[in-house]
Amino acid sequence: MAIDTPQRFTHLPIIPVRDANGEWVKVKIALPARNMTAKVWRVDVGRVPLYLLDTDIECNWEADRSVTHHLYGGDRENRLKQELLLGVGGIRLLRQLNLNPQLYHLNEGHAAFAGLERLREYVQDSHFSFGKSLEIVRASTLFTTHTPVPAGHDYFTEDLLRTYIPHYADRLTISWQQMINMGKMHPNSNEKFSMSVLAISTAEEINGVSKIHGRVTRDMFLDLYQGYYADELPIGYVTNGVHYPSWVSPKWHKLHSEIFGEGFITDQSNLKYWEKIYDVDNEVIWKTRNELRAILISTLKQRLREEMTKRLESPKSIIKAVDELNANKLTFGFARRFATYKRAHLLFQNLDRLNAIVNSPKCPVQFIFAGKAHPADKAGQDLIKGIIEISRRPEFIGKIVFVEDYDMELAKKLVQGVDVWMNTPTRPLEASGTSGEKAVMNGVLNFSVLDGWWAEGYKEGAGWALKEERTYDNQEYQDILDSETMYQLLENEIIPMFYNRTSQDIPEDWLKQIKNTFAQIPPYFTMKRMVDDYLSNFYSKLAARSQKYIDSGYKIPSDYSAWKKKVIRAWNNIEVKAINIPDSSSKTFKVGDKFDISIVLKMNGLDAKDIALDVIHGRKENDMHKPYIKCSRMTPGEKIGSTVEYHLSEVIKSPGIVDVSIRMRPQNEDMPYEQDLRLVRWI
Ligand SMILES: *Cc1c(COP(=O)(O)O)cnc(C)c1O
Repeated sequence: MAIDTPQRFTHLPIIPVRDANGEWVKVKIALPARNMTAKVWRVDVGRVPLYLLDTDIECNWEADRSVTHHLYGGDRENRLKQELLLGVGGIRLLRQLNLNPQLYHLNEGHAAFAGLERLREYVQDSHFSFGKSLEIVRASTLFTTHTPVPAGHDYFTEDLLRTYIPHYADRLTISWQQMINMGKMHPNSNEKFSMSVLAISTAEEINGVSKIHGRVTRDMFLDLYQGYYADELPIGYVTNGVHYPSWVSPKWHKLHSEIFGEGFITDQSNLKYWEKIYDVDNEVIWKTRNELRAILISTLKQRLREEMTKRLESPKSIIKAVDELNANKLTFGFARRFATYKRAHLLFQNLDRLNAIVNSPKCPVQFIFAGKAHPADKAGQDLIKGIIEISRRPEFIGKIVFVEDYDMELAKKLVQGVDVWMNTPTRPLEASGTSGEKAVMNGVLNFSVLDGWWAEGYKEGAGWALKEERTYDNQEYQDILDSETMYQLLENEIIPMFYNRTSQDIPEDWLKQIKNTFAQIPPYFTMKRMVDDYLSNFYSKLAARSQKYIDSGYKIPSDYSAWKKKVIRAWNNIEVKAINIPDSSSKTFKVGDKFDISIVLKMNGLDAKDIALDVIHGRKENDMHKPYIKCSRMTPGEKIGSTVEYHLSEVIKSPGIVDVSIRMRPQNEDMPYEQDLRLVRWI
């Protein structure tokens, strides 16, 4: 049951934003037959102002007052209102505050209407053409996607959009169909309008949030770039990082500051500081770990007592559960959203084996679970129920523990206090994952599937991994295999290592793992590294391009958009007049042979430099070469009349059959990348 609690605004660290006259700043957007107004709050997150839009004000229609009550509340219509407010209202808010940022970074597609609103500004207020405006908006926008499955992205029906933004296409001086196509993978199809595709249409740079997720994202949006291979798409990645000062325990923070020395805190992604952990005595590290585990266990006892009482569990089981929790046992943590792909059930595939593991007399262990499921995710909620059921069995009381109300406070205690952090998602659905990154900053070892960040973070001797490749397509088999591997690693490696102690009761091998973890993993997963990556891979590029546009008095985007129009118009009627490729079916080539290709195009008004022809070597399947092996550019000759001959002469480096195709694409020196125009023809 969802419970609404009214906010006490005087108790929150937020303040109303007021204008020069002391009036509360409000933004307005037009909805059918009325305006929807939102008042503006400000939260200071460190040095960064965060603005919040709140529609719960009297002047609004009753149905609009609750638009901002819940993040994931209501129906599709409510969702659309939220996203119009965020995107369109967000840009209007910035303007009201006189803020004109150089770049716009869209986090997921939720705010993608910001692109439409910015286009409207250029078209209506600056009287720029739509094409020119689009180039300007794109050159200053980065879109980051976090969601590896298509169903996780926001979609709206065209009918709903027609009700809410019927006037927008006119304002942008384009047709309704043109505007709707900005949100479709396949233009003119009857698919729903995707906010992520809209974001891609209005952003020049796109990224996923880990190396694997970058690849998954390229596969997901491949149809937007027909004629290209997934590997070629202009979609990169920045692996997520976490804010060290927020997640490290004060004990480690102090110790790190002492041993890493001056400069560390402003240069956290520098390995040379973290490596100094090897100089620290094992006793010091072990003592800190034990203290942090003890803090966690005492917090858990307290919470468990309260939660079980609230759930009306018997006094006997409450006492047993609280007593069983032990500050000296090897402690595993698993806490996150309970989406089914996170596979919280993996540990419970074989309860007899799990029983033997947790109840080993010499090497006992305890598992702490925490998390919430999305209100609409029945399967996720059932998973939680299932774990609570198991935790009530006599053999598991106080050994398998589920803690409710997972939030940042509990997350902190867990990632600081457990010995091992687990994450076992279905590959490759963990976009990044960040809780394990919080854990490594506290010397907590990870035991996780090589997916998301851990595929990049794992180092031998610094935690444990379930391998990246799937063995089975069938998910049930894969789950069985993964849980089997988990049990084996737990029984044979992880648990024995923890309990293998010196005469001073120090687990030396375990401490080696902790030191390796500190020295080799966290420097790569700090917020500092992440922001540096965004700056060097994306922000700088966009800023330079935007500045170039401004410096040209917007002549570059204007010319570039006119050129695009010309190419699009001409493209389908460019004719191949002649083509000369050695017949590879009747001839095998020897090393050193020459391989000459030429092609004559009737240019339909385009110049030689407007068209690039790539020769692709590889095996041909479904009109495209798969796998893609190698690509060389052909050289154009002079334009004679309306034709141009392009040619390529190569020396064969590996003998045998040479299988090639030619790919034709538009080319212009002002392109941000060659895939910018979605026109490709395979010849
Ligand atoms: C870090 C954190 C998450 C994200 O964890 P993942 O490993 O990315 O699933 C979720 N909820 C809370 C409260 C967190 O602190």
